[in-house]
Amino acid sequence: MHYILKGMSLIELQNLMIDQGYPKYRANQIYNWLYKKSITNINSINNLPIDLKNFINHSCSINTLELSKENKSSNTIKFLFKTKSNDYIESVSMIENDRHTICISSQVGCSVDCDFCATGKMGFKKNLSIGEIIDQLLFIKNTVLTPITNIVFMGMGEPFLNYNNVIQAAHLMNDKEGLNYSYKRITISTSGIVPKINQFIHDKLKYNLAISLNATDNKTRDKIMPINKKWPIESLIDCSSKYNKLHRTGLTFEYVLIDSINDSIKDAERLSAIFKNTGCKLNIIPFNEIGNEYNRPSSQRIDRFTQVLNKNKKGFTLLVRWSKGTAINAGCGQLAIEY
Ligand code: SAH
Ligand code: SF4
Repeated sequence: MHYILKGMSLIELQNLMIDQGYPKYRANQIYNWLYKKSITNINSINNLPIDLKNFINHSCSINTLELSKENKSSNTIKFLFKTKSNDYIESVSMIENDRHTICISSQVGCSVDCDFCATGKMGFKKNLSIGEIIDQLLFIKNTVLTPITNIVFMGMGEPFLNYNNVIQAAHLMNDKEGLNYSYKRITISTSGIVPKINQFIHDKLKYNLAISLNATDNKTRDKIMPINKKWPIESLIDCSSKYNKLHRTGLTFEYVLIDSINDSIKDAERLSAIFKNTGCKLNIIPFNEIGNEYNRPSSQRIDRFTQVLNKNKKGFTLLVRWSKGTAINAGCGQLAIEY
């Protein structure tokens, strides 16, 4: 039997120790080395008895990813990792003033098939394990000196189609005995898998949730996000009142602004009507070009859109988010395997 320790929770490590005839507290030591100290080599562990070290050396491994390529442009670094199954995933580190945001992947490829998204065009390959998700963070934590302040699940894949692994990985990031990143600093972005959004709300999970809306009418959303046929716009907006009752900050909706698709004055008016007095947060993200038929609107069209929104803004907050790292294809939605 071979055990991959990275990704295991404290309880799983405790069960492993008990099964192997070691005292339970040994699991706490290993947990501390794996996450708080973020070791990459088993030999760094120096407070375990020799027979336990031998067991770990022979029957366990800790790393799940290998760095394949690194691409840097000013304060943004894109990492390409290879998994043990020879799949490739990407993660991004972005530093701005005292904010260090990391964008991590949840799947290899994505089955949701949004028409404008580079990852969607790859198709779906596999779900990442808890270890593969947490290792993206641990690698960046060990390589980039600036402390990580924000973690967003906005890399490759649909986090809510790999719900259990994503939530377990978020718990590992959040655990006070381990990495201890506040739940306020962890954001999960979903294309709108309603049963999983409901489960998230029902389980009273405190991480920030963002839903990619990207259209103001179902006809347009059906076209650019085929998943809309299953869970249309109304079903997504319906989630916000339940969510907002339980969270300090409102549910976030992302709106990728695409030239002549969803950037008309009518769209801006409909958007402000949809969010009126909902207490939600609306993030406008100008489209990052990926060489398909979709384009970023001109700055005049972007300004016109945000001005109409600002004028009609009532009872929701608005943010225009310019992606970092577009020069190295590390902006939102630009992550795909070009290698
Ligand atoms: N699958 C999840 C999370 C990954 S995508 C989701 O769809 O929410 C993260 C965000 O990037 C989403 O809001 C998505 O709409 C957006 N996105 C995808 N392609 C983009 C592009 N080319 N330019 C800008 N944003 C894009
Ligand atoms: Fe998947 Fe998100 Fe891309 Fe849609 S936008 S294909 S859900 S990664």
